[in-house]
Amino acid sequence: MSEFDLVVRGGKIATAADVFTADIGIRGGRVAAIGERLTKGAREIDARDRLVMPGGIDSHCHIEQRTSTGLMSADDFYSGTVSAMCGGTTTIVPFACQHRGMSVREVVKQYHEAAGPKAVIDYAFHLIVSDPTEQVVGQELPALIKDGYTSFKVYLTYDALKVSDGQLLEVLDVARREGAMVMIHAENHDAMMWRANRLICEGLTAPKYHAVSRPQPVEREATHRAIALAEIADTPVLIVHVSGAEAIEQIRWAQARGNKVYAETCPQYLFLSEEDLDKPGLEGAKCMCSPPPRDKANQEKVWQALAGGVFEVFSSDHSPFRFNDPEGKMKFGLNANFKKIANGVPGLELRLPLLFSEGVRTGRITLQQFVALTATNHAKLYGLYPRKGSIVVGGDADLAIWDPERRLTVTQSMLHDAMDYTPYEGRQVTGWPVTTISRGEVVWDGGKVLGQRGRGRFYSRERSAALPSA
Ligand code: MN
Ligand code: MN
Repeated sequence: MSEFDLVVRGGKIATAADVFTADIGIRGGRVAAIGERLTKGAREIDARDRLVMPGGIDSHCHIEQRTSTGLMSADDFYSGTVSAMCGGTTTIVPFACQHRGMSVREVVKQYHEAAGPKAVIDYAFHLIVSDPTEQVVGQELPALIKDGYTSFKVYLTYDALKVSDGQLLEVLDVARREGAMVMIHAENHDAMMWRANRLICEGLTAPKYHAVSRPQPVEREATHRAIALAEIADTPVLIVHVSGAEAIEQIRWAQARGNKVYAETCPQYLFLSEEDLDKPGLEGAKCMCSPPPRDKANQEKVWQALAGGVFEVFSSDHSPFRFNDPEGKMKFGLNANFKKIANGVPGLELRLPLLFSEGVRTGRITLQQFVALTATNHAKLYGLYPRKGSIVVGGDADLAIWDPERRLTVTQSMLHDAMDYTPYEGRQVTGWPVTTISRGEVVWDGGKVLGQRGRGRFYSRERSAALPSA
């Protein structure tokens, strides 16, 4: 009998700390040994000329989530997890979304029922809190944190989701007392509405006006307010999907004065711009998300902040709504004004290849930074480390084996999500995850989906490593 179930042999291993060549011995779904000339495994993968990295963790994606207006995300837990693993990701942390009047506990139960039979890779849930009643803040959230739901997302915009400043303080307070990380969607709702209504009154309704209705001060103001309220409540926060220079300045300022403020950015702020919203008909709707993509100069600022350590995590914010679909972007027809069109872009499968190609291969970020931004920091921030997010003895054998030279032209037909478009159609990338391993099992290999429906496991999470210890 072999000592190992699987040996990944001779690959160039990259972690957030080091890059080195070694064999990885896997037993019982975990990394059992990292070394030279490991004994022969029951199965062997030749990884010479390949890069071996921790499988990606995508801590911001919307899967099988119903919007407050009744639309359902195009991806369910099967297509969503398959798409993720085919792009080198081995763990997702989507949201269990409370709408007003709902019990958060009940919502969590529903998301488990949806995910359990379908997920192919491992998952956990953040809690979207839109209705922080006394019952929710006093009873449900403390109990759910103890059960391993150690992060919340709150919105400062969207009619049906936004919380007031007072409600945000209540959520921050329970997070501080019980040990949860709070993710904040920072846009000023009233300012956005005021501008949007004016534009629509003037007949300016095309998708490009979505970006005009949410200029950077809309995001900057809410980012600053979130930072200030977090300081007042004395608890760390994470600002999600930061889009450009002005919000970055606020975050940098806060970090420099010692506030515990973390930040996330996404592919759409590096690879899309407001010009992509300005296309004939509703074509621009394919690139509509909130905050909107900014201009080319801002893309460069986001790259600089990514390389310079302002951002802790790089997530997809995969929020899939099909284009030619009555349940998608076209729900209200070709003449719909921008406020009616479903918000969000897909990105689960391309998150890693886009950043590798344009970040690592161009030398903008190091391979170690890539691993930190796409896997390790997610695990640390959201209480999954060291079971997930690195390659360590005893940790889950979640690996992505990359061909760093593979050249591809992105097209929707090669992707595995349930979408009918990708905003990255036609883009050239170099470097691709050719094999994905989840807890020691090869789930994606040589272009074939091997992982079975329902094999993914739910992970309850520890306290964030970014919080002061209890
Ligand atoms: Mn958001
Ligand atoms: Mn989102």
